[in-house]
Amino acid sequence: MRVAMFSTKGYDKTFFQAENRNHNHDIAYLEARLTAETAKLADGYPAVCVFVNDILDTSILDDLAGKGVTLIALRCAGFNNVDIKAAHKLGVKVVRVPAYSPHAVAEHTVGLMLALNRKIHRAYARVREGNFALEGLLGFDMRGKTVGIIGTGKIGQCVAELLHGFGCRLFAHDPYPNQKLVDIGVEYVSLRDMFSQSDIITLHCPLMPETYHIIDDAAIRMMKHGVMLINTSRGALIDTPDVIDALKDGKIGYLGLDVYEEEGDLFFEDLSDKVIQDDVFSRLLTFPNVIVTGHQAFFTSDAMKSIAKTTLANISKVEKGEQCENEVTVEHIKS
Ligand code: NAD
Repeated sequence: MRVAMFSTKGYDKTFFQAENRNHNHDIAYLEARLTAETAKLADGYPAVCVFVNDILDTSILDDLAGKGVTLIALRCAGFNNVDIKAAHKLGVKVVRVPAYSPHAVAEHTVGLMLALNRKIHRAYARVREGNFALEGLLGFDMRGKTVGIIGTGKIGQCVAELLHGFGCRLFAHDPYPNQKLVDIGVEYVSLRDMFSQSDIITLHCPLMPETYHIIDDAAIRMMKHGVMLINTSRGALIDTPDVIDALKDGKIGYLGLDVYEEEGDLFFEDLSDKVIQDDVFSRLLTFPNVIVTGHQAFFTSDAMKSIAKTTLANISKVEKGEQCENEVTVEHIKS
């Protein structure tokens, strides 16, 4: 199948070229992000392959369908950037990679917790300057601390299993409790109870209208003073200005982010020679107790191989007219 692959980096090309030996799709590796302006690059390609910050709203989908696009292959799990209803109406199939390595994201999540707790980012800089003083580096034992996990699907489950190994007390919130986690002692509680009792809160639910800004001023007011907040899911789960206010008065004691609501203009690019225009993001970078990574939680070689394998298999199945188990339908946005 002829595939226009948007937002392609060198690493995408490496993994997709290797896996494509098993499929022989005709792939155009495009660096551009998919936007209203760049949609014309898909002319002549029945399949479009996209990543997390490509935009597939009604008008772009309309434009793509008019150009003969019949398949959108997401090379990620989340599909909040695609108007699924609009795609369905236009007869454009949407497929995704529901699980490539939940372990990759979960391990990065726990990495952020440990780095923030033990101030590894600060220790690294200090030691390189010959400063071996310990003042300001005091951490806490993870063992015995209460961690609240919002969303216990594939990634949330892995996070819970890792933290179970640390000896944490685990609270969870999910409309569909996960029996495997109940069996290891995870307690499903209301958000109110989670917020008021957790030392660490970590987000692993999808971004949907119900979860948009799930962490806002009202939620933060219920939390313990000095709580650690981690978001490796989607940026808009957090109201960033509210979180900044809470960092300023110490209510939030640690913040670890791999995603940011306005990341589309920043992440995945080298902007080190540019002046960042986003003042909210820039403010975040001034706090000593904040670590931001640029949407890299998924980025392991194991996950990249798995993403390429599933994405190209999805495309092959649709090309052959076979049922694809990874199709995203309107049913997915009802749950
Ligand atoms: P999943 O579908 O397996 O799990 C999501 C869980 O969230 C489900 O159990 C669901 O019931 C639950 N949920 C839905 N609504 C909820 C609500 N209102 N409150 C609490 N829980 C709710 O998904 P996953 O594979 O575990 O991925 C989770 C999210 O992680 C994705 O939606 C994606 O946005 C994000 N993600 C980030 C990266 C990264 O690199 N940073 C990589 C992959 C996925």
